[in-house]
Amino acid sequence: MNAEEYRIRGKEMVDYIADYLTNIRERRVFPDKKPGFLHDQLPESAPLEGESWPQIFNDVEKIVMPGLTHWQSPHMHAYFPALNSYPSLLGDMLADAINCICFTWASSPAGTELETIVMNWLGKMIGLPDDFLHTRKECSGGGAILTTASEATLVCLLAGRTQAIKQYQNLYPDLEDGEIGARLVGYCSDQAHSSVEKAALIGLVKMRYIESDEELSMRGDKLKQAIKTDRERGLIPFWVCNTLGTTGACAFDNLDEVGLVCEEERLWLHVDAAYAGSAFICPEYRTWLKGIERADSIAFNPSKWLMVHFDCTAMWVKNSNTLHRTFNVDPLYLKHENSGLAIDYMHWQIPLSKRFRALKLWFVIRNYGITGLQKHIREGVRFAQKFEALLLADNRFEQSAKRHLGLVCFRLKGANELTEKLLKRLNSRGNLHCVPAALKDDYVIRFTVTSQHTTNEDIVKDWKEIKTVATDILVEEEQLVIMPSKIKVPLKETKERNENFGTSLLLANSPMSPKVVNGSFAAIYDHGDVLEEFSKFRLGAPSSPYMRRRIKGILMSGKQFSLDSHLDLFQGVEQKSSKVRPNSEPDDLQSAEEPLIEHQEHEENDD
Ligand SMILES: *Cc1c(COP(=O)(O)O)cnc(C)c1O
Repeated sequence: MNAEEYRIRGKEMVDYIADYLTNIRERRVFPDKKPGFLHDQLPESAPLEGESWPQIFNDVEKIVMPGLTHWQSPHMHAYFPALNSYPSLLGDMLADAINCICFTWASSPAGTELETIVMNWLGKMIGLPDDFLHTRKECSGGGAILTTASEATLVCLLAGRTQAIKQYQNLYPDLEDGEIGARLVGYCSDQAHSSVEKAALIGLVKMRYIESDEELSMRGDKLKQAIKTDRERGLIPFWVCNTLGTTGACAFDNLDEVGLVCEEERLWLHVDAAYAGSAFICPEYRTWLKGIERADSIAFNPSKWLMVHFDCTAMWVKNSNTLHRTFNVDPLYLKHENSGLAIDYMHWQIPLSKRFRALKLWFVIRNYGITGLQKHIREGVRFAQKFEALLLADNRFEQSAKRHLGLVCFRLKGANELTEKLLKRLNSRGNLHCVPAALKDDYVIRFTVTSQHTTNEDIVKDWKEIKTVATDILVEEEQLVIMPSKIKVPLKETKERNENFGTSLLLANSPMSPKVVNGSFAAIYDHGDVLEEFSKFRLGAPSSPYMRRRIKGILMSGKQFSLDSHLDLFQGVEQKSSKVRPNSEPDDLQSAEEPLIEHQEHEENDD
């Protein structure tokens, strides 16, 4: 393709994108597809000769689009928003064309400096203390744009680990890094995102899950107690993740209390505000930030709610020297005349290279202005309030957790199975898309307001859809109508075919099996049945030392288990005693209560 053709195709593409986003309501928000559908439609090998643009592009609408979940749709209520906007799209169009790699200041001076400046803007916009900004020469605080909240959590955990190892080596100079590392323990709420667990796995440190209170919030006293117990055991508490806006129910850990504990105990305090951080642009939501001055790092995703499309995670640290100490490698080919005088963002992240992400963030902030962004956030909250009001007026439903910001969690009164059926039916009809969460013992549906183009009519239409399907379900339940035939694929078979996959992931990848989520989108069933039944077992001699350690770890963590943990526990216990579940055969993972991958026949959309 030459420049002349690019001019033509580029303009066509812009029109296609504008049409796509304008008419997105006409598309089914959640695809009606089975795994492997794309393989049947595309050749197995790449073309030998180049193809013409129209030939290539025709396949987008024909083959790709029908297989997508349309995240920009106002009827998308799953997960958290992942919004884009026109200034953001234009920002990346340009950044992609420039395609400079911003690892050192010298590798792209304006890329680095623009990032520093917008991160100062954004930090001020959400009310961060100056200590987190690159504003004063003598202070080493500042912000950077990373890929994801997961990366930010890992970076901050590793920085906290470096700091803790240094501190202990000052006290006990003979200790090796590994000897200290083996004793390090971090803390987060039982509602924290799975990326916190993952950071601990990668960082080779223990992670302790603090039981949240009835509002699903981590409190200072429980944290303090856990730290005390661990110190008595000879462990070294070093790091805490305080979540503001949990994934399950948008609950807020008590930052003020947690901050005090971290200060007293001298622990690194990281704040994960991936979704809710955008709301702090509005001063009325900053009460949740009380205590932020005691934190060491904070991250949130403008790529979620702030209309800066993925990827864009804003992370600030108070002391960037700890990042340097953690990630500093200094090969000669990356040295430049101003090394040490300017920021080299390669020391703030895991990869060397980084994209020029500041441009899209800068465009969005300038084009909307602070008031425009505040208006967008407040509109999202208003629509969630509207949905909440509709829900509360129907006494067949109950709200499962207090609504915060744009997320409403609800369920049908009665057994969990009813809500599960409701959600599956809704997703298979494709008029709206939600995912579940397990809150304490309840299976709940999460309804997040996502799009900036959502209208009152959209919310009313979604509510009508939910009400209609709920009526069907309740009537069927009453008449004991037999559901349409289901093709059940036992988990065991699926696992055998894809042995490297975790089971939760398998289920997450199976479009018609949305029952995948707990607080962290990882677990799949109510934790109660496992906790009560299995926690009393002390395991004897399951198959391998690895499994023994794993099962011990699972039992100790006190966290909601992922499905894989559930299955490992289940197998471990089966080996120990066949009396646990008399109905289930030892090899058969699929007992009556075991999760299934169900491919349900879809009903015609009758709207
Ligand atoms: C979405 C979310 C994450 C994960 O974000 P990524 O950017 O995908 O890593 C982490 N924590 C919370 C609370 C979230 O809501």
